[in-house]
Order: sequence, then C-alpha cells, then structure tokens
Amino acid sequence: MIQKKICLIGAFAVGKTSLVQRFVKSMFAEKYHTNIGVKIDKKIVTVGESEVTLVLWDLVGQDEFKAVEIGYLRGSAGYLLVADGTRRATLECAVDLHTRAQDAIGRVPFRLLVNKADLAPTWEVTDEDLIKIAERGWAVGRTSAKTGDHVESAFVSLTQEILQAK
Ligand code: GDP
Ligand code: MG
Repeated sequence: MIQKKICLIGAFAVGKTSLVQRFVKSMFAEKYHTNIGVKIDKKIVTVGESEVTLVLWDLVGQDEFKAVEIGYLRGSAGYLLVADGTRRATLECAVDLHTRAQDAIGRVPFRLLVNKADLAPTWEVTDEDLIKIAERGWAVGRTSAKTGDHVESAFVSLTQEILQAK
C-alpha cells in the first residue's frame, strides 16, 4: 500500500481545514490530534492502477508560520499552498511560505490553490496575478471548499504528480 504525506500550507482562514474536510468527507479513515498542533486525516484515492493513502496534515490554530517548521513538513511527498482569493495578501503569503518550505525540505511537487472561488465577484486576486504565478511554472487551481469546485481534482492532480516524481 502506497502512503503519501501531503501538507496544507497557507495564511490563516484561507480555507485549509475546509478544503481537507470537503475532500475527505465521509471517506474518512482516521482523525486525531497530536501535541504538535496538527490534525491528520487520511483518504484513499485511486490514481490509474495505484491505490494511494493520502495522509493529510493540517495545522490546528492560527499559526501559519508553524507551517514551515521542519517537524510539520518532514516526510512530505508534496504540499498544497492555499490562498484566499478575497485577500490578496494571502497570495503573497503563499509565495513566501513556498520559498520557506522549499528551503526546509527541498523541491517536492506542490500546487497553489486560490480558494473561495464561490466569492469570485469579490476577489482581490486578479486573473493577471494568477497568470504571473502560472508563468513561474506553478500549477494553479481555483477552488471552493464551500461548493466543492475543483477540490477533489486538486488533491488527485497533486497525487498524480507525486507518483510521477518518484
Ligand atoms: P484555515 O484557517 O485555512 O484552516 O481556514 P478554515 O478552513 O478554517 O476557513 C476559514 C473561514 O473561511 C471559515 O469561515 C470557512 O467557512 C471559510 N471558507 C473556507 N473555504 C471557503 C470557500 O471556499 N468559500 C467560502 N465562501 N468560505 C470559505
Ligand atoms: Mg485550519
């Protein structure tokens, strides 16, 4: 059985926990808190002919900077950087956290999720912002944990990339 750890990284209240909950829903395997302020969910996904157990690490509480602590990131096969489309500063935060994550664990597959797509009319993040980011070669998705839009595909695409990377 293949098992892969994926971390959620991003500023406070961008929707990290909501995305994980949307994704795992009823298919949840196990859930627990540890003394390092992390909630861990598991979900089995099928990619091609492979069954992969995703071990999803999500920070409990408000400290996004913990996200780049080595203890949180260690062993990650990949990570999801999450920003909130309604708050442009969270995009800058995601870019910064990415740099720090790479410094901590090196290059592993990641995707940027700009969340709260259901609130698109009120977004501060513009198409131009996202084009600039895509020009860096980043995979970018617009998600809504509220409607479920593009959530499953974001996790599955990251998993595919992780399987191809090894
Ligand atoms: P976290 O701090 O990154 O884990 O963020 P949470 O998952 O706790 O979400 C922060 C707030 O944003 C909560 O009030 C959520 O209900 C809300 N939220 C999360 N995702 C979405 C979304 O896709 N759309 C909307 N409209 N609200 C969202
Ligand atoms: Mg959270």
